Amino acid sequence: MTFVDDTNYNGLQYITADNIHSSDVIAIFSTRNGGVSGQTSETQHLCSMNLAHNFSPGEDDYENIIENYKIIMSSQGFDMKSLVTLQQKHTSNIIVVDDNIVKKYRNSPLGFCQISEAADAHITNIKGLLLSVRTADCVPVLLYDSKNQAIAAIHAGWRGALTGIIQKTIKCMIKEYNTNPKDIRAAIGPSIGICCFEVGFEVQESFVNEYGEYIKKHFTAQPESKPFCDIKSMSKAFLIESGVLEGNIEMSDLCTKCNPDLFFSYRYSGGKCGLMSSFIGLK
Ligand SMILES: [Zn+2]
Repeated sequence: MTFVDDTNYNGLQYITADNIHSSDVIAIFSTRNGGVSGQTSETQHLCSMNLAHNFSPGEDDYENIIENYKIIMSSQGFDMKSLVTLQQKHTSNIIVVDDNIVKKYRNSPLGFCQISEAADAHITNIKGLLLSVRTADCVPVLLYDSKNQAIAAIHAGWRGALTGIIQKTIKCMIKEYNTNPKDIRAAIGPSIGICCFEVGFEVQESFVNEYGEYIKKHFTAQPESKPFCDIKSMSKAFLIESGVLEGNIEMSDLCTKCNPDLFFSYRYSGGKCGLMSSFIGLK
């Protein structure tokens, strides 16, 4: 992963997934820097690249959020018409973004494809679309099947991980695009680290019930304290179990909660924050 200070766009900072990002494919993770939101003391927590376009309605000006999308997408040579967003609800629902979906949902005044069905992952093989998922601690996962020119963007928090959204998205790519998991390059973006991700015993228990005792290796616990979950290593393990080669996976070691100047973090802010977005698109 490379940290980019984009000198063409004042203050814009993002991270590229270098095993995917190339002349053919865009694969980037936004930071909180380089946007226009949060210029007053009341809205400082949204400063400045808030991409929460259908989250906490009324908290940020819609115009600011759209301007933020325009800034980061134009830095990659894409415009609003290329954007695809999801109605994220911590589900394991996956949208196959085909011509029908684009036709059905590309109807906002700005012309981007705002999918209103609850879903937390999407896949496509259509060039010129920029799939996006919004996060502020949860794990963003980007996938690229270089052989069949297909891509995926996944929002995987612990609820998504529990319902197997990563594994299901890869199965969906196999079905739709005849993807061989060995051809997939995967990038796990900045998200909350094991340093900060304390969870309830009941969360650990529900993972054990779903996956078996082995899943406990992704949790640490002192006997008297609650467990901490390594949601990144768990996401990586799910990719490998699904057939992705370990050497084709890149993972950010940055913790969103430990880096409040760089990222929005739900946990750091007590839920009062903007959202970042991860983008993947075939040029
Ligand atoms: Zn941390």
